[in-house]
Amino acid sequence: MRRAAGSARVGTVERRGPLPKVLPARRIVQWVTTAVVILIGIRFTQWVVPHLDGRWPTADRPPGVEAFLPIGGMLATRHLLEAGVVDAVHPAGLAIFLGICLMSLVVAKSFCSHLCPYGALVGLLGRLAPLKVERDVATCTGCQGCTKVCPAALPVHRLQRVASVECTSCQDCVVACPVKGCLAVRPPRVARSQRWLRPLTAAVVAVAIYCSVVAAFRVAGHWQTQVTEAEYHARLREIHSPAYLHPGGSR
Ligand code: SF4
Ligand code: SF4
Repeated sequence: MRRAAGSARVGTVERRGPLPKVLPARRIVQWVTTAVVILIGIRFTQWVVPHLDGRWPTADRPPGVEAFLPIGGMLATRHLLEAGVVDAVHPAGLAIFLGICLMSLVVAKSFCSHLCPYGALVGLLGRLAPLKVERDVATCTGCQGCTKVCPAALPVHRLQRVASVECTSCQDCVVACPVKGCLAVRPPRVARSQRWLRPLTAAVVAVAIYCSVVAAFRVAGHWQTQVTEAEYHARLREIHSPAYLHPGGSR
């Protein structure tokens, strides 16, 4: 039988060769995401500060800033389900929220860990995901290498299928496992040695789902808010008015 490149059979288990490419790919995604978030923050500051000062900004409002208000995405989802229309105020927030939820429904929790409400929600959705990290008990050597690297401190070496809401699908455990195919992202009830997602493939699937949802919203024209610049200008000037105090907040 032809053996896969980068693997070697030692004793009764097949040892894996060089580490998969998921680690550099993950670093790239993290750095790109960090850069985008910083740029959104700078752009938003350039937009909101002049408005608060009573001046007209030269920068446009970045729609991606709506991702910082998960509650807006949740309310927009409810509005979409009840009224059947996309929220005109925070469409980008809805797109990002649905992209993250769908991503987590397929490849388990893949976004956010950071006590965040987003993390808690996608963690719950991730429990329904068909693709999860699974351990092949038959080939596991019990070395505990997976548990040692898990940032969520999960006892991976004792679990058959990682369904914890704390798992972020980072795949550090998959990369650390020395036995080829022993720990992998798999659908349930599939012959373990036959079908499993390579770490990089699972990461690509997650990113592709998110980007597809956001792209679909953009193509459909549901990305820019319908709130006019003049209304933002007027509302931001009176942001500290008692009219905007939350009923349950300070008086
Ligand atoms: S993918 Fe593995 S290492 Fe990462 S959080 Fe989940 S169990 Fe832990
Ligand atoms: S690293 Fe792999 S072989 Fe070692 S305990 Fe974890 S699943 Fe088993």
